[in-house]
Amino acid sequence: MRLEGKVALITGAASGIGRESALLFAAEGARVVVADLLADRAEETTQQIVAAGGEASCVIADVSRGADCEGMVRHAEERFGRLDVLFNNAGIMDARDGDAQETEEATWDRTMAINLKGVFFGCKYGIPALRRAGGGSVINTASFVALLGAATPQLAYTASKGGVLAMTRELAVLHARENIRVNALCPGPLRTELLMNFLDSEEKRQRRLVHVPMGRFGEASEMARSALFLASDDSSYTTGATFSVDGGITAAYVTPE
Ligand code: NAD
Repeated sequence: MRLEGKVALITGAASGIGRESALLFAAEGARVVVADLLADRAEETTQQIVAAGGEASCVIADVSRGADCEGMVRHAEERFGRLDVLFNNAGIMDARDGDAQETEEATWDRTMAINLKGVFFGCKYGIPALRRAGGGSVINTASFVALLGAATPQLAYTASKGGVLAMTRELAVLHARENIRVNALCPGPLRTELLMNFLDSEEKRQRRLVHVPMGRFGEASEMARSALFLASDDSSYTTGATFSVDGGITAAYVTPE
């Protein structure tokens, strides 16, 4: 088991990448703190872990609120005694996000508050806990859009993920001598609710797939397996990395027909 004895806190663990990671981390021996805004669905993830013989605890937290992030980290330490892995994964795509002209200030602010400030708050309160445990791993979910421009605009989202990537690199450098590794997971387009709601017609989906050399959307479970590598000691010499798991989208100039 690759996470035996470790405690992992995962935000956005009620759905998609976060839920798949929570289930996989627990199956690999971690005690998991399932953090999300959605109480019922977070509890569902927790119950799934327990039903499979794992250990998990649920905490309701809005990552855009500092007090909630402080509380979820405290919950991990009080419940399980330590924190070894912090997976800052919660994020949103606002349907009203568009180009510079049409994106409303409220959409910009909401997106930044959750996607970027949420990661900052996770690190603000989580890194001291990792230090108390003698080191650990931080994984921040960015996106391939932090690396490539898209003609389907979502300016606030893209800018927020660029910020996550830049922040990840700096934190990695700052904490490297403390045995704290900080890496960014950059998923490609996934067949999750989040993206399927945004690409809400077959035409939009096919338009996105044209750019993916593998010719398919990724699965949340494929992100979970990559996050497991970053969470575990298998990645003991990896920090500050932009870990792209994207079906080849960031490598492509022209894709096969
Ligand atoms: P999802 O919508 O299935 O899951 C996101 C979870 O975050 C939900 O459970 C939601 O309740 C939670 N959440 C939203 N706002 C929150 C808040 N303020 N506080 C706490 N929890 C909150 O989406 P997903 O596809 O699993 O996305 C997870 C991460 O992956 C996000 O950061 C997303 O931007 C990123 N990502 C997704 C894709 C994709 O194609 N789906 C691609 C690249 C990056």
